[in-house]
Amino acid sequence: MTVDTPLRAQAGLEAETLAELKHRLLAHRTELLGREDALRARLAAEESATTNTFVAGAEGGAAAEADDEVIAMLHHDDAELAAVTAALARMQEGQYGWCTHCGEEIGRARLQALPQAELCIACQDVLEHRGAL
Ligand SMILES: [Zn+2]
Repeated sequence: MTVDTPLRAQAGLEAETLAELKHRLLAHRTELLGREDALRARLAAEESATTNTFVAGAEGGAAAEADDEVIAMLHHDDAELAAVTAALARMQEGQYGWCTHCGEEIGRARLQALPQAELCIACQDVLEHRGAL
């Protein structure tokens, strides 16, 4: 009995390519989780500094701005983390490599450039130009 189900060929991708992409997604997820922790710690430290010292005026404004920046980074990382997690889930289900919108192959080059891609280039293009699919 095998413990690890071998990744079957999906969307014209060889098991080897899939394994490499999976490895990159897992590494990316680890990196994102580590960065999130660091950002949350920074946010907590800044918040307690602001509350404890009662910074007013320019200094308080600067602290708030720094918070906004950290929060924006957290939002960005959250979205990326969700995309990476979803891609790993699709791999698990054997759905990886197919556009989640039109069902076409996403294509090896695009997946190698962006392993978490869930749309083919055509759908991505429409999304970017029209703002919706
Ligand atoms: Zn598509």
